[in-house]
Amino acid sequence: MAKKCIYCKTDVSEESVIDFCKRCGIGVWGEKMFNTIVESMEKSRAAGDLFQGSVSEPSARRA
Ligand SMILES: [Zn+2]
Repeated sequence: MAKKCIYCKTDVSEESVIDFCKRCGIGVWGEKMFNTIVESMEKSRAAGDLFQGSVSEPSARRA
């Protein structure tokens, strides 16, 4: 399922960790902040905590 930029509706890479294109991201946050956000989100995804566990109830949270 292809993703689209939430701002300009342009196609965004399905592998992208963000829901907006680079151009809009830089427009919103500035290039430095945008890169920082992408980097931290990629780290989160690599750690498996971006799409898994984020909706778990606290009581069911894994250690
Ligand atoms: Zn965009």
